[in-house]
Amino acid sequence: MLSHLNEKQIQRLINRYYEGEKTTLLINEYGINARPNELYKLFPPRQEKTICFYCQVPLITVWQSRSSYRKTASECPNCGHRDEVACMCNNCVKRRSLTKLQQEQEKRDKINQHYKLDRRKPKLLWELSLRDQIYLAALLRAGVDENLSIILPVNSYMDQLSPTLDLTKEIVLSLANKNIICVHPQSPFSAFKEDDSDFPNVYYVYKVYYYVNVDAPIESLMNPNPSYFKQDPEFCYAIWREISLEEIKQYLLYRLEKVGFPFTIGEKTIAVLDDLLNHFSTGQVQGLIYRAVGDATRYFQENKITKQHAANIVISSLQRMGERAVSSNWTLNSFKRNYDLPQTAISQVTFDRILGVGREGFESCPSMDFFVEEPSDLED
Ligand SMILES: [Zn+2]
Ligand SMILES: [Zn+2]
Repeated sequence: MLSHLNEKQIQRLINRYYEGEKTTLLINEYGINARPNELYKLFPPRQEKTICFYCQVPLITVWQSRSSYRKTASECPNCGHRDEVACMCNNCVKRRSLTKLQQEQEKRDKINQHYKLDRRKPKLLWELSLRDQIYLAALLRAGVDENLSIILPVNSYMDQLSPTLDLTKEIVLSLANKNIICVHPQSPFSAFKEDDSDFPNVYYVYKVYYYVNVDAPIESLMNPNPSYFKQDPEFCYAIWREISLEEIKQYLLYRLEKVGFPFTIGEKTIAVLDDLLNHFSTGQVQGLIYRAVGDATRYFQENKITKQHAANIVISSLQRMGERAVSSNWTLNSFKRNYDLPQTAISQVTFDRILGVGREGFESCPSMDFFVEEPSDLED
């Protein structure tokens, strides 16, 4: 205790301590009852000129042992506030979270303002093309929430929506561009480009929530009426080919990835695959791909070629094998759907619901005959 000393004596003692005088001597001389290494703890804290922002009292600094390298910050004796940007005192923490809340509220207001639910005139069902209806049905099946009110972010079910990223992008963008689906104002902040002067103008298409902007019950949009589609056999045939082509692209990328051949599908590959669909089913083309990748892998192992080269060989041998199979009238084995690549929503809607061809969608060569002949034979 230093209570027997006056202010001046204490100041002098403090000075002598920090000047380096022996602590045991100081303790004896001033008649202090303390262990030498704890002497500095008895020194009264130093008052600073800075005033606490909250309590209007001077901040204080506690003394450190003279051998310590630690610097103590000055703080308010009442509330612990420190004169620092990152101060963690209760007052500052509260103040910051309040500011954050206010900023978030402002952001939410901007989003609500910009993406008001009734800002677009709802589409009428007849304004949707057959393709729009299929895309929308697939998107709803994969992504609508339990209450049928919000389409969840596409990010979370991309694989289930369509076989390829290309088609997923096409589905989401074409529906959004036509205002058949619109950004939902409840979308999370992270779905918008945040550090942007025209926040919330820019949004990420796979991260936002959407709502359906069509004047029709969601249930009926999820389950379009097939008879309407059957009136347009050419569309039915075209969409079958398109979905099949995507399922083949998906399988090709899957096989090539398995053997570690890097590959990006370009125009040439699409032309080759599309031509195969003139003669074969998706399952048969997948069988061809399996063989072509196997051959290329062996060739890669036995010869010094690059993986890129090996991947290119796959495409040319697909073309060759396909042409030979046609000219020699071979019947190709058909693959079943791969376990790793379960049927996607767009494929289900198209084959099972709209076209009513079911497994034939995968196991038969796409053909217009399915839609111009007696349809009752094809219902399952
Ligand atoms: Zn304070
Ligand atoms: Zn503070």
